[in-house]
Amino acid sequence: MGIRIIPLSAQQVSAVIHEDLDGYIQKMSEVDIRARSNFITSKAPLAPPIQSRDEYRDFSAENGTRDFTPTEVGVLEKNAAEISKLLEDSPIFLPQSCMETQLLANLTVRVGCINSAYESGLPHTRMYDRFPVILIPGAVSSRILLHEMVHVIQKMLPGATNAFMTKNAWRPYFHHRELLMKHPLVRINPDTNGISYLRGEKLPIVVYTINNPSSPSDSEGCIHLEHPFEEQAYLAERDIFDSPDA
Ligand SMILES: [Zn+2]
Repeated sequence: MGIRIIPLSAQQVSAVIHEDLDGYIQKMSEVDIRARSNFITSKAPLAPPIQSRDEYRDFSAENGTRDFTPTEVGVLEKNAAEISKLLEDSPIFLPQSCMETQLLANLTVRVGCINSAYESGLPHTRMYDRFPVILIPGAVSSRILLHEMVHVIQKMLPGATNAFMTKNAWRPYFHHRELLMKHPLVRINPDTNGISYLRGEKLPIVVYTINNPSSPSDSEGCIHLEHPFEEQAYLAERDIFDSPDA
C-alpha cells in the first residue's frame, strides 16, 4: 500500500478556504486577523487592508492558492515513498510519539498548494467535508510532510493521541475561547483541537509579541510544546528522522 498523495487544484483549495467548513477563520481573534493583514500589506502594499474575518477569508481564497507544478508533485511523491520506506523499518508504535506506524504507513493524504497571501504560506491542516487536507507552500521536505501527516491522523482519529497524552501528563484545561479571554494575545493554531492543555502543572501557550503583530510568526513560546498534537507531531519527526542518540 504505502502513503498515497492526492494533489488538489488551486480551485479546490480556494473552496477549502472560502467555505471554512471547520470554522478556522471564523474562530480567529482580532489580533490573528491584524497579524495576517499586516503580513499581506507588507508583501503587497497595494492590497486593501483586511479588517474582518470575512475579508480575510475572501482575500485568501482568491489570492492564496495555486496549482502544484508537476515537478512539485513528483518531489512530494518521492518524499512520501521515503517516509514509507522509513516506516517499514520502524516498530509497531513509534517510541517517542506513541504513533501507530501502520496508520502513517497506509495514509492517503490530500495536499493543496498555498502561497504567502494565506496563512503566510505556513504548512498546516484543515478539515474539509470530513477529510483533513494538508496545505503547504509547494514541495515541502519529508520531515514537514510527516509532521502534517501526524496532524491528519489526529484530526481523523482523536483517540490516536490518548496514550501519548497520558504518558506525557497532558490534561485538558480550557477551550480556545476561554483561553483567549485570559490571554488575548494567544495565537490560533489550525493543527489543534481547539482545547488548551496543561502539561504537568504548566500551561504552554504561544502568544503574539505585540497587539499589532507584523505576521502570524511574530510570536513567542515553544511551538513544539504548544499543544499535545504539536508535541506528538514533533516527536514523530524525531522518531523517524533522528537517530536515537542524536
Ligand atoms: Zn504542527
